[in-house]
Amino acid sequence: MPVLEVSRDIAGLAECAAALLDYEARRSNAGKRSEMVQPPPLSSAHLGWVKYLLDVERMIEKSPALAARLPADVMQGLTAIAAGRQQFRREHKQCQHCGRWASIYAPRCACGEKL
Ligand SMILES: [Zn+2]
Repeated sequence: MPVLEVSRDIAGLAECAAALLDYEARRSNAGKRSEMVQPPPLSSAHLGWVKYLLDVERMIEKSPALAARLPADVMQGLTAIAAGRQQFRREHKQCQHCGRWASIYAPRCACGEKL
């Protein structure tokens, strides 16, 4: 899928962002075994655009004035990222002890704290 089409696939981008956040959480929880965590089967076009949007998000955090000058497809993409993050937070819980995110079904965090 060309980038132009990917940038309009809001549901797909939200899904991709949620999957990427889940992957990063699983890697973080796996510690030294993080290389063994399988990456999600995401399209490289979606993944590329999501990573770009996450970079844009970080830039806006540093200079909020940027947000006023973004093209429409980037604005829509940021909405998709926010939706993906909400989905991730519905499916995960954050450890009160170390701040890691784990599946809502995980009994314990990688740090040993009960979730
Ligand atoms: Zn923890």
